[in-house]
Amino acid sequence: MRIDLHTHSRVSDGTDSPSELVRAARAARLDVVALTDHDTSAGWSEAAAAARVEGIELVRGMEISTDHHGHGVHLLAYLPDPTYPPLVEELARILEGRDGRLPTMIARLQELGIDLTLDDVAAVSGDAAASGRPHVADALVAKGVVASRDEAFDRYLSSGRPAYVGRYAAPLVSMIRIVAAAGGATVIAHPWGRSGRGRPDQADLGPLVEAGLAGLEVDHQDHGPVERRELRAIARNLDLVVTGSSDYHGAGKTGHGLGVNTTEAEEYARLLDRAAAASAASGRTTPEVVRG
Ligand code: AMP
Ligand code: ZN
Ligand code: FE
Ligand code: FE
Repeated sequence: MRIDLHTHSRVSDGTDSPSELVRAARAARLDVVALTDHDTSAGWSEAAAAARVEGIELVRGMEISTDHHGHGVHLLAYLPDPTYPPLVEELARILEGRDGRLPTMIARLQELGIDLTLDDVAAVSGDAAASGRPHVADALVAKGVVASRDEAFDRYLSSGRPAYVGRYAAPLVSMIRIVAAAGGATVIAHPWGRSGRGRPDQADLGPLVEAGLAGLEVDHQDHGPVERRELRAIARNLDLVVTGSSDYHGAGKTGHGLGVNTTEAEEYARLLDRAAAASAASGRTTPEVVRG
């Protein structure tokens, strides 16, 4: 079984449409793929239809922007009821924050003498429900200002660079509880990744487990062998599910091809058990796994 539980489509900052992503997952010989766009479920229905056609198992999820003690934490949420009002409200607030910072980012770039407009960003972000820095990067590439997303982040968009602008993120513990109450299961994405400078240790993670956290994404390209070993030990000590995934963004992120990391079948089963338990306890109608 090849299982990849973290991917992005054009609905956020990936470059494949949801159905293209599902077809690419099949071509990459995956048996199970989760679509986890940033802060939105807008790609779910297209992906589910494509998964039924392609005969691949699809888990509907999302990667939610959260904040913990001033550090950004990406929280993967699997199979929550997307109509649960507290979840809907928080996601709306996050998406407003994503769009709301674009004019400031553009103003900063203009101050640097770069002729970029909101329309240029809109032209490359197309049908994205969640705008993000990668779209600004793509607009800079389209204008010939930089050669790649990587270069745009390095020169302008990463934290500490001149066009970086922060945005709203939901409080982590509260979001873990909201997803559980929506009948879903949560996994911290790339817990020791490059973007989050907080490196939560076992003591930090304990209270999150009490709040309902189900797992840790241990096998991710941001983690080297030593980090993976240490994170796996922490997951074992805290009885957390261990996942491994690509964080695929299509052509938008190199080194993150589908299936570059995968999740053990046993761990996937545990994750689904956690989601099923949350769903039963919540009494909410949650999305089924699409068994294509
Ligand atoms: P945002 O959602 O606007 O905060 O932007 C963060 C997104 O940008 C994440 O999904 C990252 O995967 C992506 N990202 C961060 N650094 C880079 C980079 N150097 N090249 C391409 N994508 C990046
Ligand atoms: Zn992304
Ligand atoms: Fe992430
Ligand atoms: Fe991601």
